[in-house]
Amino acid sequence: MLNFHPWLFSGAVEKADAGIKEGDIVEIYSNNQNYLATGHYHEGSIKVRIFSFEKTGSEYEFWKEKIHRAYQLREKLGLTNNPETNVYRLIHAEGDGLPGLIIDIYNSTAVIQAHTLGMHHKRNLFADALKEIYGSKLSAIYDKSSESLSKQEAIHVKNEFLFGETDGIQVLENNVHFHVDIKEGQKTGFFIDQRENRKLLSYYSKGKIILNAFSYSGGFSLYALKEKAGLVHSVDSSKKAAELTEQNIKLNFKEAPHQFYTEDVFDFLKKQETSYDVIVVDPPAFAKHLSAVDKATIGYRNLNYEAIKRIKKNGILFTFSCSQVIDKALFRKIVFTAAAQAKRNVKILHQLTQPPDHPISIYHPEGEYLKGLVLYVE
Ligand code: SAH
Repeated sequence: MLNFHPWLFSGAVEKADAGIKEGDIVEIYSNNQNYLATGHYHEGSIKVRIFSFEKTGSEYEFWKEKIHRAYQLREKLGLTNNPETNVYRLIHAEGDGLPGLIIDIYNSTAVIQAHTLGMHHKRNLFADALKEIYGSKLSAIYDKSSESLSKQEAIHVKNEFLFGETDGIQVLENNVHFHVDIKEGQKTGFFIDQRENRKLLSYYSKGKIILNAFSYSGGFSLYALKEKAGLVHSVDSSKKAAELTEQNIKLNFKEAPHQFYTEDVFDFLKKQETSYDVIVVDPPAFAKHLSAVDKATIGYRNLNYEAIKRIKKNGILFTFSCSQVIDKALFRKIVFTAAAQAKRNVKILHQLTQPPDHPISIYHPEGEYLKGLVLYVE
């Protein structure tokens, strides 16, 4: 903890005061009674998620200051007043010193997702702070924590607007228009973390035949079409994803060379006879825990093998993993195995990661979760 790591594991706790409950704010003291840190208490292997290494004063001022600091960073990144992009992550949990809290901004709507009961208890204070920081730029705040809290914690939690109300949100990302369904969509409604990687795809898109596998609302597909791809296939097993993608295509184009397949990507790839100039594979996290790493490794290897096989000579593969427990080195090894198995010569062109509005605290390397490789497949 003296290294500012934001987690206190149960093995490091000698005693806890009686009556402390899940989600309470607690102070941590050393054996010789020196104050160390303040955080939210949890039952489980991580006992305290720390949000301050200094004693905190007024609670509201404390949260507001934290959120304001995160806002200032996004301001520096050119995201808060950008005519081309009005969707970004404002609070990225540990990366912004607020473990358990996500806040995403969709134009004039903020979506809060608490991953701990402790953070959920404070949602109205966060809403007040957001209103104060954004002023008239914010018209609604939605709490969408019922899916991010554990089942047990979420029993009495329902998703609701904490301020204002809105339906049919539209955002702009690098001048591409998207509908965002904060209520029915996945996560907070959109995968904001692929913004820069989508932009990179656009440089490889002109005139190309492209497959976007695990496409969700069509992020990568839309960028490719905007750069005049010859043909784009989007594949996702979710019906909602199909609906969102069609909406987004309509929002941006009168007509587009695009086809959506509501299908399992593995099935699609196996029976697909088309070869592609460019393939994007951005699957959901195959491993959520360390115990699942072996199985996930096989899943990623098979997926990349099938994808590499379907890339034309001298084509491009954008391949991603968002499993935090599969690190950069392991991911590269997995893709190496898939390439060797497919007997193709493969060069790494770009090594991708999450964008700076998803910052990684240097004291919390676990915050690095998104990895991507852009490969030249000969
Ligand atoms: N690339 C997307 C985000 C992908 S999230 C973007 O830029 O927005 C992962 C997606 O994979 C989800 O939409 C989920 O519905 C889909 N999915 C999960 N398992 C799948 C499978 N086996 N076959 C097809 N789609 C799947």
